[in-house]
Amino acid sequence: MSENGVREVIIIGGGPAGYTAALYSARADLNPLVIEGFQWGGQLMITSDVENYPGYADGVLGPTMMQDFRRQAERFGTEFVSDDVTRVDFSERPFRVWTSDDEYRAKAVIVATGATARQLGLSSEVALQGRGVTYCATCDAAFYRDQEVVVVGGGDSAMEEALFLTKFATKVTIVHRRNDFRASAIMTDRAQANERIEFATPYVVEEALGVEEGKLRGVLLRHVENGDTRELRTDGLFVAIGHDPTTKLFLDWLDHDDAGYLVTKPRSTETNIPGVFAAGDVQDHTYRQAVTAAGSGCMAALDAERFLAEERGHAMDALAAPREEAEAPA
Ligand code: NAP
Repeated sequence: MSENGVREVIIIGGGPAGYTAALYSARADLNPLVIEGFQWGGQLMITSDVENYPGYADGVLGPTMMQDFRRQAERFGTEFVSDDVTRVDFSERPFRVWTSDDEYRAKAVIVATGATARQLGLSSEVALQGRGVTYCATCDAAFYRDQEVVVVGGGDSAMEEALFLTKFATKVTIVHRRNDFRASAIMTDRAQANERIEFATPYVVEEALGVEEGKLRGVLLRHVENGDTRELRTDGLFVAIGHDPTTKLFLDWLDHDDAGYLVTKPRSTETNIPGVFAAGDVQDHTYRQAVTAAGSGCMAALDAERFLAEERGHAMDALAAPREEAEAPA
């Protein structure tokens, strides 16, 4: 930190993107402060086994992986504040960031606050997270080989996840609260044509069953129109009812799309405000993987470092070469 209390970089968010941005900026001597949130770790904290993160050949528990990420960033001098950001002011530099107790200032800010998978809002769902209840087919489908699963939702995500799951599961039941689907016709048609996929509509999941056993064994469905209930045995409950980016604090400052995802310049993590960068799921509703979030956290740190070095008139000192030269045709 400089004498007047202005830091080089503040990273907001403690998930794969934020910790990777911290690792890279710490190793570039930017002495980052990560305001990681009261519940740091992001979506991986409600994930059990992670088998698709390169380098963990035997798999790893989501929370363990986040502790590893955090420790690695700490090793190079990252400071952490385990509190939520309550307000930001990006109107002028240094940028200002508040938690409930303190105000922090920095020359550059990396926003890596992620996104949250929407939940059904059931206590039994929460109790069985990572024990049969999951929010990511790409991550967890392979655990359900030769088993029967349920997908909740009627959008493109639900159709896509159900189709992907048929590569592993013997039967996939899509449970949706209406008889019409929000999903595109082509995705709905594909799902309807797949003989492993069945539909239960208009139904909602009233309860995830198996809390006492500590493992999902089924779902209790309620018919939306006549209120009838029935049990459906299942090994996995894939909730695919959309995601919400954690961007409320930034919407007045940063360009965003209709769903609230931050918009960054192509092939960059730069936002519309020079010196403010965005990384991870907060600006990516397509890939949403820990490894892609981590990659974009790395990009944000390199972009911030380049930005700060250019400002000092030493662009060539930055870890990454200036963008203009990098983009020159071979
Ligand atoms: P979405 O389009 O918002 O659909 C969410 C679905 O979940 C809706 O069918 C909704 O029901 C249902 N839902 C919401 N809250 C619920 C609740 N509490 N209980 C039960 N059901 C609930 O979200 P998405 O499917 O994640 O898609 C997000 C965006 O990404 C869309 O623009 C989509 O086209 C795009 N996407 C595209 C592809 C692709 O093209 N391959 C793949 C994935 C996503 P209602 O319909 O009744 O509201």
